[in-house]
Amino acid sequence: MSENENTVRTKSIVVLPGDGVGPEIVAEAVKVLKAVAVKFGHDFALQTHLIGGAAIDATGRALPDETLAACQTADAVLLGAVGGPKWDALPAEQRPERAALLPLRSALGLFCNLRPAKVWAPLKEASPLRPEIVWGDEKDESENGIDMLVVRELTGGIYFGEHRRDPDGQAACDTMRYSVPEIERIARMAFKAAQGRRGRVTSVDKANVLETSRLWRETVSRLQRDEFPSVALDHLYVDNAAMQIVRAPRRFDVILTENMFGDILSDEASQITGSIGMLPSASLRGDGFGLYEPIHGSAPDIAGQGIANPIATILSVAMMLRHSFGLVAEAAAVERSVGAVLADGYRTADIARAGETPLSTAALGDAVAAKIK
Ligand code: NAD
Repeated sequence: MSENENTVRTKSIVVLPGDGVGPEIVAEAVKVLKAVAVKFGHDFALQTHLIGGAAIDATGRALPDETLAACQTADAVLLGAVGGPKWDALPAEQRPERAALLPLRSALGLFCNLRPAKVWAPLKEASPLRPEIVWGDEKDESENGIDMLVVRELTGGIYFGEHRRDPDGQAACDTMRYSVPEIERIARMAFKAAQGRRGRVTSVDKANVLETSRLWRETVSRLQRDEFPSVALDHLYVDNAAMQIVRAPRRFDVILTENMFGDILSDEASQITGSIGMLPSASLRGDGFGLYEPIHGSAPDIAGQGIANPIATILSVAMMLRHSFGLVAEAAAVERSVGAVLADGYRTADIARAGETPLSTAALGDAVAAKIK
């Protein structure tokens, strides 16, 4: 698709606010998306559907057929969060997280999960790590803080292999399996992401022990040689990667890894940034379609108060613009606005420092939308 076609065709976006703070933060992300449409002359067709506990209350099902059908024909999906105490008493398989998110991701064939973990200059004290680890030379105000992207394989590996318990219940096994095409498609996503960043992929495995990891390492190395020679590649064992993420996090650009290692490492990477309300994510399937959502949950403890931080969801919109629509300048404009608003001292309660007056969710969304240019 040419850039011209890209900019003129209407993009169809399904919006799934969900539960708890979901509707509050999604409203602000939509506000920013509309500001982008106005500034850059795009046409985004938005349709809102039910998911999670809200869908259970209205229809009896956490993922109504109508919601799934709308997602299947959309160009992209923006999701808030699902779940909350009201539905916690339901059997596990009927609870919103299990009955809505897993079937949605699997029906949409989303095999690639992108989780950026970035420390924003005005928030560098929020990290639990020492300032020199987070930012290097403290006097250096340039953008050289932690800024990594975890690319996690999402539909294979041990979570999707055979799970079996012996008849006497005294032993169990779970099978980890990966095929070359499965490794190639996720590795391609990581190399392409690195080309748009600092050009470096660290592939994480356990090749000293696991055969799947040896196949992973061979396949990733071959792909780099044959298709992405300009991207630098190194390999780390997962135990070492877990150490390096807290010891020297600024060395990482793109981390590529399989499902279970990615589950663990992406949570570790998010925690070192210090602010769960700031972190977006994307789940992709390689054809442009994607599901975009903050990494946090529905935060029932603060829902309905208008104080949740909308930035994770706003940055999820930036990821949508970049990864689903190829609108790189627009994505950068959203990220720049977030940076400018933080630099001006605007904060919601979760990131405000002592003595600062926190803004409401809506006021922060207004501030980001107003700075889009
Ligand atoms: P959570 O992420 O919702 O909240 C953890 C803590 O972070 C809470 O103190 C919350 O107030 C705070 N927080 C989260 N997002 C915030 C934001 N945007 N601004 C300010 N503070 C924020 O995790 P939890 O409490 O373990 O789970 C709550 C519910 O969300 C549960 O029902 C859980 O199953 C569900 N959940 C849903 C998803 C999802 O929809 N993808 C993911 C995780 C948890």
